[in-house]
Amino acid sequence: MVGTAASASFAVGRVLAPRADPERFDPWVEVDGNALGQNVREIRRLSGSRPILAVVKNNAYGLGLTTAAPLIDGQDAIAGFAVVKPDQAIALRDAGVTKPILLMGYVPEAVGPELMHREIEFAPFSEGVDAMYAALSRQFGRPVPVHLYIDTGMARLGMPAHRALPWVVALTSQPEIAIRGMFTTFTEDADFDDDQLARFTALASQARAMEIDLGYLHAASSHGVFFRPNALLDMVRPGLLLYGAYPSGAKETGRANLRPALRLKARVVRVEQLAAGESVSYGRNYVASKPTWIATLPVGHADGYPRRAVEGCEVLIDDRVYPVIGAVSASHTILELGDDPSVSVGDVATLIGPDHPAIHPNAISERAGVSVYDVLMHLSSALPRWVV
Ligand SMILES: *Cc1c(COP(=O)(O)O)cnc(C)c1O
Repeated sequence: MVGTAASASFAVGRVLAPRADPERFDPWVEVDGNALGQNVREIRRLSGSRPILAVVKNNAYGLGLTTAAPLIDGQDAIAGFAVVKPDQAIALRDAGVTKPILLMGYVPEAVGPELMHREIEFAPFSEGVDAMYAALSRQFGRPVPVHLYIDTGMARLGMPAHRALPWVVALTSQPEIAIRGMFTTFTEDADFDDDQLARFTALASQARAMEIDLGYLHAASSHGVFFRPNALLDMVRPGLLLYGAYPSGAKETGRANLRPALRLKARVVRVEQLAAGESVSYGRNYVASKPTWIATLPVGHADGYPRRAVEGCEVLIDDRVYPVIGAVSASHTILELGDDPSVSVGDVATLIGPDHPAIHPNAISERAGVSVYDVLMHLSSALPRWVV
């Protein structure tokens, strides 16, 4: 429908969360609204009460974009949301989110009207965007809201800082553009972040010396909120922390009490006893040394549970954790119950969540040797999400 939305009326429909299914064995994701609220309060405390631009890209790090964002939209600490793809921005607005939405990614010209129609903020990073903005402004009768994206050394997106000043001057003098902010991204390299910050603040000072209003300056993602107190600027831009996981090394500082805001769950579909010498799954990686009970869960790496979970992860059933054995296959995971006969078909298993230290996303990350971002973001978007 690209290009036609401008003439359609701007109707926003709230997407209702599906209800929990007590009969379901296949995996699902539970989203914990209280945990999200606690994490927002912790970020606010860590960042000296700066406004929070909540990063909800990549399906809100596994929680479900349209499930998670509406849960925090109403909180005063949340100044707005940030995404990286036009589809995400559109879905977020259509899910009923009312706060500003910043699209930190490339905008193909054809999508511009759809985004303007939904009052999405753009993040320009190249010369030649002014013509598109002028056309959009004419079409909609209002200026295009933007946060100027500056590259201070990440070399991913952003206008390179060394040639940004004339570009900033030109854009800010265009009446078709409303500057809401200016931002950059750190490389999270201990020695280099300060250089990046210096480049960014130098640019901001030069622009401000010319009486240019740049709006909110922002740079700190989750890592910055913990480790770059000099870079909190006017606004912070965390993703990971919102969802209750820690950037590497941050958990050990004991400076925050975050709570994982999702649970990956499924029900046990099979319980069997192996005889000594019998093996488990592809590759026969596990061989029982004595008679051993095992349980099968209908969740695997195609659902987003890491393949490498077999290298030391455990799964919670009731109040006990059981090791993952054999191999995580596309749709199944097998647990060693040992001589514990208490697990039955239909029991609920939690593979990721806040309820035991062994299943915390950071524990999964460490034990499986995968990034904590992958633990969350690789959860299949096809899994149903329920708010609890
Ligand atoms: C993903 C992203 C963030 C959030 O990063 P976290 O490490 O999850 O806090 C912030 N800014 C930009 C530009 C991003 O792409």
